[in-house]
Amino acid sequence: MRTSESGEARTPYRLTPEHVYFTFASGRLSYDCASCGSTCCRGHGYAVNSQDALVQLTRRPHLRFFLAERDGLVVQNCAPACFFLANDGRCSLQVEQGYAAKPETCRLFPFIDIRRVGQVLIVAPHGDMCPLEVIGETEASGTSTHAYLLDAMSMQRIERFLPEVAPIAGTAESVIALEREIVAASERYLTLPYSEFVGEQLRLTRKYLQSETMTESWGSDSALRSKRMLAQVLDTIGFAVEELEQADRSVGVLIAALTPFLRSRMMFRRDGAEHSDCTRDIDAVGVIFALLGVFALTSAANLAGMQRVTFQTVARIWKENHELLTLISLLGTPLVWRRGEEVAPAGSYPEFEAAYFEVARALTSSRQQSAPRTLYEIIASQNSWHGAQRMRFLRMLATRLHGRVTSSLDGGPSSASMRKRVLSQFQQLALSSGDDKLLRAVLRSS
Ligand code: SF4
Repeated sequence: MRTSESGEARTPYRLTPEHVYFTFASGRLSYDCASCGSTCCRGHGYAVNSQDALVQLTRRPHLRFFLAERDGLVVQNCAPACFFLANDGRCSLQVEQGYAAKPETCRLFPFIDIRRVGQVLIVAPHGDMCPLEVIGETEASGTSTHAYLLDAMSMQRIERFLPEVAPIAGTAESVIALEREIVAASERYLTLPYSEFVGEQLRLTRKYLQSETMTESWGSDSALRSKRMLAQVLDTIGFAVEELEQADRSVGVLIAALTPFLRSRMMFRRDGAEHSDCTRDIDAVGVIFALLGVFALTSAANLAGMQRVTFQTVARIWKENHELLTLISLLGTPLVWRRGEEVAPAGSYPEFEAAYFEVARALTSSRQQSAPRTLYEIIASQNSWHGAQRMRFLRMLATRLHGRVTSSLDGGPSSASMRKRVLSQFQQLALSSGDDKLLRAVLRSS
């Protein structure tokens, strides 16, 4: 494996099934370029290896004006479309020279989000450009089978930088083994209630990561535990079980099929990335809470009028609700303010200030050490709003707590500057005092 100066991998040499982990079941996702209007050929361009670049330059010498270096070579498109997109919507490279002549990005698209953990490549669909759909249990889409994609990947060596990621718990081997089992389970639970799949995820997590993340307090009844988790998520966001059941059955099918993909965003994280896909404190059980949040929000989108929910719907919900989903992922955890992190004032949410102060107080080390409460319990005691106000309150909390709380009951190690540490200590003292006037004054002066 060759690496760049930044330590990122280029060109994996071995592409066998053991070295590639697909974050979706074989053939389960399908796409239709004609109905989508070849959106992917109208983007910013495509990565190209040096060999393909030479062939394309021979054919179209003027492409040299649009060749750029960005983590390898890229051909930069001119809007509205790729240089090779013909008026009939087909790729002229493929039509004239065959499939193998297409650039690497295009051969694999939309399965081009490739990351590396150890010697294994994690393959996921790209962003939210392609309206991928889940196809029925008895069918399979030829363009998303693992064998087809492995062939497309092996045809030429991959010459892109592959970001290196690390598992959030356990070893790379144990988490890859867990995730492969979850891909297989996603097929078995495709048409069953999603809470049953949650129970299976808990059981498998216990099997592979017991020592790291699952303590006795989680109990051994995964089915019961999954129902409690679903009830806590729904109660927090103010969504009744009966309402959830009114959503189209296709939502549960979609979320079950996309669960391995969504898990891969959270179970592996880019080391040192400032804006990683998940927060520093999410654990393997928190991942399942976050998925329940995605399930609930996607059901809400369907009930709000979206009749056709696809991969794009879920990817957008995931992206736009990142902080809220992080908050949901932490519901089962007793948290405290991270040492040295400032407690942000309620600011432009005066109507929520008193409730926010109570939540902030409940998260001080002294309170949590004497009688630990989970984030769900803390929020439930203050969450008295309904409808849109409830969502505003939760989004405010999500923003205020994001990156500032930790599951380490002593507040964890501090890397903050001396000034921030002193400020944070003042704030914690003001929170403990129970005097809201003093607290307001300290937060304002911070
Ligand atoms: S090379 Fe072909 S498949 Fe790739 S973007 Fe251009 S037209 Fe589309």
